[in-house]
Amino acid sequence: MILIDGKKVAAEMKQEIAEEVKKIVENGGRAPHLAAILVGHDGGSETYVAYKIKDCEAVGFKSSLIRYEDDVTEEELLSKIDELNNDDELDGFIVQLPLPKHISEQKVIEAINPKKDVDGFHPANVGRMVIGLPSYISATPYGIVELLKRYNIETSGKNCVIVGRSNIVGRPLSVLMSQKAVNATVTVAHSRTKDLEEVCRNADILIAAIGVPEFVKGNMVKDGAVVIDVGTTRVKSDKTKSGWKLKGDVLFEDVADKCSYITPVPGGVGPMTRVSLLQNTLLSAKKEIYK
Ligand code: NAP
Repeated sequence: MILIDGKKVAAEMKQEIAEEVKKIVENGGRAPHLAAILVGHDGGSETYVAYKIKDCEAVGFKSSLIRYEDDVTEEELLSKIDELNNDDELDGFIVQLPLPKHISEQKVIEAINPKKDVDGFHPANVGRMVIGLPSYISATPYGIVELLKRYNIETSGKNCVIVGRSNIVGRPLSVLMSQKAVNATVTVAHSRTKDLEEVCRNADILIAAIGVPEFVKGNMVKDGAVVIDVGTTRVKSDKTKSGWKLKGDVLFEDVADKCSYITPVPGGVGPMTRVSLLQNTLLSAKKEIYK
């Protein structure tokens, strides 16, 4: 079994991005600039945004953090988005989700100029991805495909089962995995799938994006399968300082011996998600998606 080291691959990618930034600046260009809008004080969102800002610093990007309290109105937020859409000094921005209930996330996503939508959530980018046009691909699916590529894992003609069909992971990943560059035969499973264990046992590549800790057990995995664990659920722990630890969707001890490759949690998909946002921002700065 080979443990897929997402942390190491993400560090290599960060290094590559930092070198590109250095060249851009040496040639008289400006450093790529990413902004993040954070509403409220949700612990998870605070952490994710802090990582994004730190990652920007690490590769030489400029970053801006725009904060609002929970009671910001939808109108105020949309007006800020309009301002950022028209800021020529900004390559891309993200609005950290979830948003308070009185704000429509879909309205917010659709207000972002697709050319600056480095999260790849705007319907224009999702649609472009589906028909194989250049687009910003959402960070987790992008990171997973890159991980498979960099480990030279054969995907062509393989049966890929993705458990989970969310708009940010399972659904876009299913499109990417079936595209000509990857050539897998894809099954998307979900909470209504019948005989899920049997469906999973048929997978050469099994990707779990469910959010149910340790859901995938050894009896659901074919010998020699590649297992990608997207799940990150915080569960209580008296062994950590924070009082919680991250659990994946795969019962690692039960599954690892059966696999050819497996991602750990943490240290597998998570770091790749982080670096993919940087990659999209760099693509925007270089005008490689929208010429
Ligand atoms: P989500 O929007 O809640 O979607 C979960 C999906 O799993 C749904 O399609 C749901 O089916 C399916 N599902 C739930 N329980 C199931 C069951 N018992 N059997 C079969 N399918 C089941 O979640 P998400 O946003 O995609 O995230 C999934 C997990 O990945 C979470 O743990 C999240 O924290 C993690 N995540 C990690 C990263 C990272 O960078 N590592 C990034 C994003 C997300 P239905 O559609 O039928 O309800």
